[in-house]
Amino acid sequence: MMQDQSAQLYQEAKTLFPGGVSSPVRAIKPFPFFTKSASGSHITDVDGNQYVDCCLAYGPLILGHGHPAVREAITKQLESGCLYGTPSEAEVEYARKIKTYYPGMQMLRFVNTGTEATMGAIRAARGFTGRDKIVKIEGGFHGAHDAVLVKAGSGAATIGVPDSLGVPVDVAKNTLQVPYNDIQALEETLSAHEGEIACLIMEPVMGNMGPILPKDMYLRAVRNVTKEHDVLLIFDEVITGFRISIFGAQGYYGVEPDLTTLGKIAGGGLPIGVFGGRKDIMETVAPQGGVYQAGTYNGNPLSLTAGMATVEVLEKENVHHKVNAKGRALWQSLNDVVRGLKMEDQVTPTGIASMFQLFFGPQPENYEQALKADKVRFMKFWQHMLQNGVFFPPSQFETNFLSLAHSQADMEQIVTACKKSLAVVK
Ligand code: PLP
Repeated sequence: MMQDQSAQLYQEAKTLFPGGVSSPVRAIKPFPFFTKSASGSHITDVDGNQYVDCCLAYGPLILGHGHPAVREAITKQLESGCLYGTPSEAEVEYARKIKTYYPGMQMLRFVNTGTEATMGAIRAARGFTGRDKIVKIEGGFHGAHDAVLVKAGSGAATIGVPDSLGVPVDVAKNTLQVPYNDIQALEETLSAHEGEIACLIMEPVMGNMGPILPKDMYLRAVRNVTKEHDVLLIFDEVITGFRISIFGAQGYYGVEPDLTTLGKIAGGGLPIGVFGGRKDIMETVAPQGGVYQAGTYNGNPLSLTAGMATVEVLEKENVHHKVNAKGRALWQSLNDVVRGLKMEDQVTPTGIASMFQLFFGPQPENYEQALKADKVRFMKFWQHMLQNGVFFPPSQFETNFLSLAHSQADMEQIVTACKKSLAVVK
């Protein structure tokens, strides 16, 4: 596989950007491929190599790259302007649509990234309760802001800086941690800090340590315990929203949080974040209340249009039924591959809906267990996948995604590439 152009671009990129990239998880060793274009289920690099894309920009592209309905909606909106700095009808229509699937989001705010959404939700929780401390789940990733860069997953875990430099100790001390799937630890923490904790923020299904699923009844127990201790529950559904089901993880598991954050799919491939929830909490957000949140690009019409077009396709084409069936079939095939190679004690295929990963170790239940996976072997496997024309996110602690655009031939290519790549690293 020729990658000369990418290698050359990387030489210059290294002098321009820290680590040669605009976001840490893209920093593949020895150098990342530079993308020229993407369409449907495929991504093509500047050297002309084409890959089946299971990274899909880390989650937003459930319809694949450049779905015609989304492109058409964006093009049409461009003709009417791309930014107004005023309220727009699209805002009202899209908020109404979101509420039909996330009824707990009685009021909401459109922002531009998942990071901004979790920042806003946490600030609203703190403002509403008048408390400073928050609890997060170890290995959960909620974007790159101070309050949540403590034992963070995703790129932070991959490059080994889960506790970022530059986060003031005084900020980090207000972020308490509990392991995922451990209701007792949560209960103990909430009891030990009774009356001090504003909220628990969590991904209902962990997507930033690879997908790790909640144990039976765990999310319900979380809901009960947070209620008992008068602590607000924030579900960060930036990955799982519109992904696990059109109703997100909260609809899938039937557990309603006090506040929800959305992003990724909600923007149909353009930048977006949304936070919302109980009316009494959201009424504390400015200008109605004293919790300040603002943004030049908030509710930008292009993202709203792309998001709305995406959700309409999800509705009309019964997309979840299709992509989740692909996810189930792939999981089955990957298990057959692992068994066929007699690697059951080394590799565990895992996943839910259209999210999947191969863990180089046993199925983890939490961050501590996930960290024990054989990362070095995973990266060797990853390199072989790329050589076999399949692009997975370059980390054991990310999730692979499927989209509406993945064809039967793509699925077969993924399975064949896994078989070959696993055999090499056996
Ligand atoms: N929350 C979760 C669960 C995420 O996975 C991410 C990003 O991957 C974020 C928040 C931050 O979103 P963004 O990258 O749009 O700022």
